[in-house]
Amino acid sequence: MQTPGRLIVDVARLEKGGERYLGETAPDLLELGESEFVIPVGGMIYDIMAEAVGDQLLARGVVRQNLRCVCSRCADVFETLAEDDDFFCATEINAQTEFVDLTADVREAIILALPGYPVCDEECRGLCMGCGVNLNKGACECGQKVKDGKWSALDALNPDVF
Ligand SMILES: [Zn+2]
Ligand SMILES: [Zn+2]
Repeated sequence: MQTPGRLIVDVARLEKGGERYLGETAPDLLELGESEFVIPVGGMIYDIMAEAVGDQLLARGVVRQNLRCVCSRCADVFETLAEDDDFFCATEINAQTEFVDLTADVREAIILALPGYPVCDEECRGLCMGCGVNLNKGACECGQKVKDGKWSALDALNPDVF
């Protein structure tokens, strides 16, 4: 039986040259647990070609997951995605195989693509350690100078100066 919301290849009826599977799984199948920093938005999205070759079902394509993340530097919430554009999996099949459920394979690829330390931008300046101001949005209020450019070399020579 087909289970709604999962990526299931109908091996018994698969076309000879392979068949494209394009869609989105049910939203609760990624099962990230209690992470507050990486929150999936919607289901896992897949666009793959599935083909039976000998005693294997080969699937390759692109899988992705839209995410809402909390920046690990500035704590801002931002949208991003985890993507594996080189998804590939091979599953053993035989003459009796009717369906192959690839949901777990897609999930594994997306889990590997998740950001470990999400940042809203590579250039994100984070929060001031002194006053907590988001340095992307405003100036520091506690007087801690933002170290940049030529002055950081001088700071390194004089550790008492912030
Ligand atoms: Zn940030
Ligand atoms: Zn400050």
